[in-house]
Amino acid sequence: MQQARVVFNLPLSREFTYEIPDDICVKPGVRVKAPFGSRLLMGYVVAVEEQGNDHEADQSYTLKKLHAVVDPEPVFGELHLQLARWMSRMYFSNIGECLGIMVPSGKREKEPPGGEEEAFSPKPLELSEEQQMAVREILTQDQGAYYLYGMTGSGKTEVFLRAAAQTLEEGRGVVYLVPEIALTAQVVQLIRTRFGSSSAVLHSRLTPSQRLAEWRRIVRGDARIVVGARSAVFAPVPRLGLIILDEEHEGSYKSQNKPRYHARQIAMRRCSTEKARLVMGSATPSVEAFALMDQGGLKRLNLTRRLAGGQLPSISIVNMSKQEGPLSRELVEEMTRTKDMGKQSLLFLNRRGFSYFFQCRSCGQDAKCRHCSASLTYHKSQGMMICHYCGYKTAPVTTCPTCGSLDVSYSGFGTEHVEEAVRTRFPDWRIERLDGDSAQIKGHMEATIQEFRDGKIDVLLGTQMIAKGLNFPGVRLVGLVMADSGLHMPDFRSAERTFSLITQVSGRAGRYTPDGLVIIQTFNPHSLPIALSSVGDIEGFYRKELEVRRFLKFPPFGRIIRLVVRSKKKNSALALIQEIAKRVHYGQNTSSHGQEGEVEILGPAEAPLSLLAGNHRFHLLVIGKDFSHIHGLVHHSLKNLQVPSAVYLEIDVDPVSLM
Ligand code: ADP
Ligand code: ZN
Ligand code: ZN
Repeated sequence: MQQARVVFNLPLSREFTYEIPDDICVKPGVRVKAPFGSRLLMGYVVAVEEQGNDHEADQSYTLKKLHAVVDPEPVFGELHLQLARWMSRMYFSNIGECLGIMVPSGKREKEPPGGEEEAFSPKPLELSEEQQMAVREILTQDQGAYYLYGMTGSGKTEVFLRAAAQTLEEGRGVVYLVPEIALTAQVVQLIRTRFGSSSAVLHSRLTPSQRLAEWRRIVRGDARIVVGARSAVFAPVPRLGLIILDEEHEGSYKSQNKPRYHARQIAMRRCSTEKARLVMGSATPSVEAFALMDQGGLKRLNLTRRLAGGQLPSISIVNMSKQEGPLSRELVEEMTRTKDMGKQSLLFLNRRGFSYFFQCRSCGQDAKCRHCSASLTYHKSQGMMICHYCGYKTAPVTTCPTCGSLDVSYSGFGTEHVEEAVRTRFPDWRIERLDGDSAQIKGHMEATIQEFRDGKIDVLLGTQMIAKGLNFPGVRLVGLVMADSGLHMPDFRSAERTFSLITQVSGRAGRYTPDGLVIIQTFNPHSLPIALSSVGDIEGFYRKELEVRRFLKFPPFGRIIRLVVRSKKKNSALALIQEIAKRVHYGQNTSSHGQEGEVEILGPAEAPLSLLAGNHRFHLLVIGKDFSHIHGLVHHSLKNLQVPSAVYLEIDVDPVSLM
């Protein structure tokens, strides 16, 4: 008689043993339906063994029987099981939860959703010398970690695709990661035409069953190059040869749900255990990646020229403290000139809605969400004040809710407001807006992008959605309406984000024309990320930022584990975070110190977003140079911790945000 060891996608860290009935065939790596309490749950079989081989303490009771098997063939193998085990330790999670985010939850369907078209190869581009050198370098060894560092438009995509094609030739598989599939239509199209039916595109719009069908094509080796966002890093390509991580600096590679993994970290892990190549790329590396290039942990490959003829745009800064409204005189002038030249403008703003800040001029009260410590944004098109964190809506106020004064004002400006200002200023131009609100309308985004590319729109304005990876031949002018919006966030990455945003957005101008122009509107023209990005001093910014980080012992000079406790009951949350802090301090004081063990414990304190969707939030930061030391310390401190019901503990290893 055989038995199966099963894990569930539940916050339980143990494996469960079931008897395998004679009439079903169970292999390790399949999903099964198993009785659990009074329910039937889907679980993952991690091992099949002879009965009597039970490691559990209590062997006296009779084992429950598996109910049914879901997959006839394994959906994960030993490599993924090992990866899940590693992740569960790394991210304070458990194996079932880790397998749960890797393996699609779908049921088996007939077969793939419409076959992919066959590959057709257009005339290949002649690679530049730098591109050739980069491709050659990547291919010299079977294994290695590289960073393709070059401005937008320097031809990184072509290097990725050549390295991918070569790796496929060697009989090995490729995973190509992008921040978001919908925004990288061009890359997806290139991959489909070049690799046809041997490619798989993991769209967020696939149903779980379609996802599973694609997953099975990959397991079978039918799809050997896989494109997708964050979770595609788990794609089970046999004989992995290359992982590409495009736009490495993007925050979307970090999961904000348990297990809070970073696709870059998983990619590094997979490439080292599966002996594959890793190639990341960006014009604005994360500060960590930049430091790693300096130390040689990542081999830096430079692309220094724009290949489609374009040059870097000239960038000018406009100080908004001397201006009225959202459009400066300089911006209006250049928009007019651009239109006269038959070219297009791209206006960029980081904030949806109409205005973001309400303030009473009598008592200073501002309009906060009832459930979050965040300000409400006025959305004129809906006539509502909306919370961007939890979605709470309320009618706009005309009198102060605190003192009843009628002297209230709205300031700052969102995309809707800028749109209105542009329409008023240029009544007969063709103007379109793309942001999270207008993208809700199905197909609107694709259609608008196409129209803009075709030159049917004079001014396109939007949020970061339009800052990424899109090439528009007709764009001469890029305006950053409010470069400061992320600058004052109480977060150690705010400078890095602002810098990367400005540099990325600037890259949208002048890709194909010699006279590209960028106008940055700001109230803080002298802040480092703004001043340095505007003169294109990328290296300078990283040096300065690294000094700050070194001083603060923040990444890359220290690793952070962040513990967040939340609850609707403030006192319960506070009590738990205090208990945790006590344990961490105790653990640190009783451990042997030395250089390696140097640890900084910050907090406990209210999280910057101290109220989120009705939950009070407190956090504690454990920072140290030696990762295994702080990891061990946290692990130890949380042993046997009782988390009361209705109180939640999140553990974030290497957080990308401290909000
Ligand atoms: P990046 O990914 O670095 O932002 P892209 O890969 O989008 O840059 O390339 C920018 C433009 O340069 C694209 O239009 C691409 O077709 C073109 N390009 C890339 N490589 C070459 C080349 N070797 N010769 C001519 N044009 C090229
Ligand atoms: Zn008031
Ligand atoms: Zn809210």
